[in-house]
Amino acid sequence: MMPTGGGKSLCFQVSALVLDGMTVVVSPLISLMKDQVGALQANGISAEMLNSSNDESFNRDIINRCLEGKVKILYISPERLVGGMIQLLQQVDVSLFAIDEAHCISSWGHDFRPEYTQLGQLREAFSKVPIMALTATADKMTKQDILKQLNIQNAETFIGSFNRPNLSLDVKRGYSAREKLHSILELIHRHSGESGIIYCLARKTTEELAGKLKREGIAAGAYHAGMPNSERDRIQDDFLADRLQVICATIAFGMGIDKSNVRFVVHYNLPKSIESFYQEIGRGGRDGLPCETILYYNLGDIIILRKFATEGEQQEVNQEKLQRIQEYAEAQVCRRRILLNYFGELSDKDCGNCDVCHKPPQTFLGTTIVQKALSAIARTGEKVGFTTTIDILCGNMSADVASHQYNLLKTFGAGCDIPYRDWHDYMLQMLQMGYIEIAYGEDRHIHITELGHEVLYGKQAVHLAVISREDFSVKARRLRQLAGGPMTAEYAKNGESVELFNKLREVRKRIANEHQWPAYVVLSDRSLHHLATEKPTNLIAFGNTFGIGEHKRDTFGEEFIRVIKEFISQHGNMPVLNVATVSNTTEKSESYMERQKRLHANAYAPWSEESDNRLRQYVKEGISIEDIASLMERNVGSIKARIKKLEINTTESELPNDWFEDYEQELYRLQLEKAAIEKKINDIRSQILQEMEQRNLDKLNSAKYSVSYCPPRTIMQFDSKAFKEEHGDLYLSYCLPKEKEASIIVKRNTEE
Ligand SMILES: [Zn+2]
Repeated sequence: MMPTGGGKSLCFQVSALVLDGMTVVVSPLISLMKDQVGALQANGISAEMLNSSNDESFNRDIINRCLEGKVKILYISPERLVGGMIQLLQQVDVSLFAIDEAHCISSWGHDFRPEYTQLGQLREAFSKVPIMALTATADKMTKQDILKQLNIQNAETFIGSFNRPNLSLDVKRGYSAREKLHSILELIHRHSGESGIIYCLARKTTEELAGKLKREGIAAGAYHAGMPNSERDRIQDDFLADRLQVICATIAFGMGIDKSNVRFVVHYNLPKSIESFYQEIGRGGRDGLPCETILYYNLGDIIILRKFATEGEQQEVNQEKLQRIQEYAEAQVCRRRILLNYFGELSDKDCGNCDVCHKPPQTFLGTTIVQKALSAIARTGEKVGFTTTIDILCGNMSADVASHQYNLLKTFGAGCDIPYRDWHDYMLQMLQMGYIEIAYGEDRHIHITELGHEVLYGKQAVHLAVISREDFSVKARRLRQLAGGPMTAEYAKNGESVELFNKLREVRKRIANEHQWPAYVVLSDRSLHHLATEKPTNLIAFGNTFGIGEHKRDTFGEEFIRVIKEFISQHGNMPVLNVATVSNTTEKSESYMERQKRLHANAYAPWSEESDNRLRQYVKEGISIEDIASLMERNVGSIKARIKKLEINTTESELPNDWFEDYEQELYRLQLEKAAIEKKINDIRSQILQEMEQRNLDKLNSAKYSVSYCPPRTIMQFDSKAFKEEHGDLYLSYCLPKEKEASIIVKRNTEE
């Protein structure tokens, strides 16, 4: 047992090379076989695979070569093995059986494959040949089941460390779709030209997100089980060959994907279990280089996942698994410790590479807040969902509030000092901490748990997490982009040339395309970084570079060396300076002009119309002169001079231009506006009721009428005449003097 990316395949590949005879690897997925066979062949090892995608004469040819003892490692699907190959293999000197992804044998595991259960025959048919089972799924039941089904109960068990320190862990709670997109775009910027996977819960989301990324000029593709096979294969191949940078996929993507240079893995929604989460992030950073992982989750995810978990088979197991990943997402202690403990690996040190380690979450005494929410729920008789609860707390006269007269509750408006969004977050925290639960059978109404009652009656105090949100204003984003990614900075420190790295990457892509291999099969990212730093110019030095063996040296060496030599002849064998490295360099002999040129790439470049316009735009956006200087790679003095020359009005920039671009503030402004409108509605409401009473509009009691606010968009959609016919003449539409599009609806509360 080893985590994804921990080196499971090495266990049988190395054994295969050491032992006489042929090793048979049983693998459930063609893509997985294809990758491993490609990688072995690229290293000069005779590996083959038998599967239904080969044509039969080709398969026969492979079988003949096996019989002649010319194949060292044979990959085969379980169907083909139990469907007639066992007899044939008895004529071959088999050194070892390796059952990869062995959890597929257990109905307890998460990828059950019925044909795997027949692999028990192997023990009888080959009583002397060792059998090895490999899996990344570590729960106890699955493990016992694997040993039992394969008839290898007495086998020794080896458990590799599940720790993957190069994967950073980050969880972001309560982001809106828009914020997620901003945050993901930034992540992709940080990893310019590098591969990443974004896992989504729904098929539709994968397509929508891929569409949005494409519109931002990113080579992205969607992948899910609802797509035709040919399309899925094409997307997967494009991703493996680095023609697609980002894959937006459901969990259907990735089993057996052996791409070594995935630099970020995002969970757009909360995953179903810690196992699937760990397996999915495990597809990143397999070459040992840093890989960034981010998990986003919000209230909507939990509502949907809980619903799934209470349907179908194995409800208890599913609910338990969901509970554990929720606890992980809400953790206040080092996340890696939680993961490792989950897989039975005790760790007593914090990792220093997760968001909790970087920035320990802060809490505050939030008992009153929680009590307010619980009280609002209790006063409705536990008959409301999240939205209405928050409407009651904020004092919003929504249709639901109006029709049930929740505005008459004591708690109506009791939490109007807290913004709507923050209530959302606190309610999520309350759900996570078990003070409330969702009644799926009752229209998703919220019920207060026993624990919740203790808080409500003041028997228990509650600590809530302080809400911290990223600043996604244009200015903040630009400045973060400017700072560059952690990777760029790290490599640049060692004197690596980014330009050469990109050139080497091109060479790798060309070779990979020629052989129809994924790019990393030719050379890993790590090897490329070493080449771009060490710049070897002969085969011996090339062969001594990290991750390059004799076979690769002799096959591809010349091509890479040619490009390195070409680069050196143009640039010299000096580290190429870039923005990230200049601050460490001080050369005394440098002239002022040289220094300016080195510090600011565009220091002496003439001003074009395009750059003038950019300058005007930056000033307008209120970006400081210093920031503009770094954005435009010029010095502060020349920016100041140009602003003067073009007579750009800088006082204008002191106006709060960012104000409208800043989502948070804009939201706040809208909330204020909404509160003002709501107040007006309430005033008008009492006026109407008064008027009705004065005119003695029949014997009607004002309590029998509800008054609600109808936002402009809704009113467009209905036909006022039909509405009048249906509801009688007691339909009044008031135009507010300023917000002339908003209307007030008064209708009789009939039983229907
Ligand atoms: Zn940590």
